[in-house]
Amino acid sequence: MMIRTILFTLAAATGGIMAQPAPTYVCSRVDTPLLIDGKGDEEAWKNTRELSAFRDIEGGAIPHQCRVKMLWDDDYLYILADMDEQHLWATQKEHDSIIYHDPDFEVFIDPDGDGLNYIELEINELNTTWDLFITRPYRFNDPNILHDWEIKGLKHAVHLRGTLNTPGDVDDGWSVELAIPWSSITSHAHLPRTGKAPEPGCSMRMNFSRVNWQVKPTAGGYEKLPAPESNHVWAPTGKINIHLPEHWGRVIFSPNPPQEWESAMPDNSDSARLKLYEVLNAQLEHRNKLQEFDRSMQMPPGVNICFPTDDFFVLTTVCNMTGAQMRLDSEGRFACTPSAGHHPELYLWVHGNNKRSPMEWLQQFICYAESGIDSVIIDGSVERIAQLTPLARLAGLRVYAWLWALNRPGDTIALQHPDWYAVNAEGKSCHLPQERPFVEYYQFLCPNNQEVQQHLQEQVRQLAAIPGLTGIQADYMRLPDVELPQALWSKYGLDMSHVIPAFDYCYCDTCKALYAAGSEPDWKKFRERSVAGIFNLLAAEIRKHGLIAACAVFPSPELAARMVHQDWSMFHADLVLPMAYHSFYNKPATWPADITRQAAQESRGRIPMAPGVHLPDIPPASLPGHLETLRATGVHGIGIFSDDELTPEHLEAIKKFKATPHVLQRH
Ligand SMILES: [Zn+2]
Repeated sequence: MMIRTILFTLAAATGGIMAQPAPTYVCSRVDTPLLIDGKGDEEAWKNTRELSAFRDIEGGAIPHQCRVKMLWDDDYLYILADMDEQHLWATQKEHDSIIYHDPDFEVFIDPDGDGLNYIELEINELNTTWDLFITRPYRFNDPNILHDWEIKGLKHAVHLRGTLNTPGDVDDGWSVELAIPWSSITSHAHLPRTGKAPEPGCSMRMNFSRVNWQVKPTAGGYEKLPAPESNHVWAPTGKINIHLPEHWGRVIFSPNPPQEWESAMPDNSDSARLKLYEVLNAQLEHRNKLQEFDRSMQMPPGVNICFPTDDFFVLTTVCNMTGAQMRLDSEGRFACTPSAGHHPELYLWVHGNNKRSPMEWLQQFICYAESGIDSVIIDGSVERIAQLTPLARLAGLRVYAWLWALNRPGDTIALQHPDWYAVNAEGKSCHLPQERPFVEYYQFLCPNNQEVQQHLQEQVRQLAAIPGLTGIQADYMRLPDVELPQALWSKYGLDMSHVIPAFDYCYCDTCKALYAAGSEPDWKKFRERSVAGIFNLLAAEIRKHGLIAACAVFPSPELAARMVHQDWSMFHADLVLPMAYHSFYNKPATWPADITRQAAQESRGRIPMAPGVHLPDIPPASLPGHLETLRATGVHGIGIFSDDELTPEHLEAIKKFKATPHVLQRH
């Protein structure tokens, strides 16, 4: 009994036949560009090692071989595939037709290994191609496939060893040669999303597939037999479904011909990663049958599941081989933080309306990047963010658009709709200048108004259309402060230790009607759910465009819920940036790290966090130490607020922090 249990657990953990780790290939660099003629007769190809042997997609042996090699340089990823084939035949001549109806060769690239947002390219013996981009694979009921997407600048050629569509003879085979521009590959990944060749040592998840059909010769050519196709692949997925990117192989980019092939070690974290996907697949299957996730499903050892809302869960685990912290959510997004000793990502909030020429902006961005800032979160109009994004990207920064969500001062469309605005317990609306709480720019919209929701979704769509964006960070995803941070009570002459009706929103007709008709009995909770609801709606829209859904939040879910109706533990966020600003709360400089640990506990560690540092509170000399105490909490990143207060001394301090090697501390 015991042995059976153990065996079962092992099989479940490794995915049955998937006990073998995904294959790994070291792709070496080539010095001179290759001529794409389909033949692959250059010396560079001859000296290049083949990928491990192809197998049937379910893992079995195959009758004829497909030999694949890869090379890379600054501009292209090169792929050469050589296939045995007795009957060369192809019918599709039109670009973007369904190429796998013919025998074909297929390439799949998931540049950042997040299991979403990957490239598919198919090519047949007529050299006809089909390229598409998948933001959400088919395991979900609502996959999202961008059919119009094109690999710009793709070079492709086919060489036939035999005669095409000529049934009287026996053919030898065919080969495919591809040069895929890096600008196409890395522009669509989340990380690094550089549009450039990868850094040596980086890896990507890839797979290759060859679709084979059984045919019989006829008078005019070949006729397809009514048998299913067979799929020969590099990395078997265990199912007749290539769209399981978690099983794809790993390609490591090496600057040199790899002297030591042994350096291509299997990925030690594979089994921990695949355990998470086992649970995801089981939960999706359960939902398909019973229309809901199984909250009582037993987890494999070491895996935690958390349901922020009924229709969304997050799985987390720590790989005991590498110490990597892994996270997979029910929307299929995988993320991995290397280990507790890693360098945190540094995010800088940037006010896009600062007056600078494009050249001055570029110099500024270069200065940030050289100091160790990784990402900028840019405020401004859609046009402004679109102007600055390519400049920041040129400097090597990742870019998040800064979206003012529920508080939208001066929104000319919203201002035409008085009923869109949040209303307080005294019936006063944020629409009217004389009735706004605290400050003129508090122009909060109602989270439950459907037109508001559509309006904000449209804002997301406009931002998402900016090329090169990594994500969108929602700000003011909350209602007005029912409780201000203590440091501000005296400024407004208020004692906010109890709820003051004038600062308690949203008592609009829409909200009151929804509350009366709904099942949430707690009025406060109802509003927290409403705020989470609109964030989750926008997050779904953001992710649909292949972007990271981030949110600026109050320091911890509990505190945020109490103060601004923002229980962000219910947010379906890929990243939160808690504003852990101690001076606002009359707290000592040790407080940000404490509240960050608290926030991780309250959200059960399921949302990657980058707590914000409020620069005016920290003298430059104390900044490296302050960043270090935040890093020691194990956070994914740290936010820096903001560019307006950032001095050259701060930048030096950041550089110093980034240059310090972080030793993994064990307590
Ligand atoms: Zn309302």
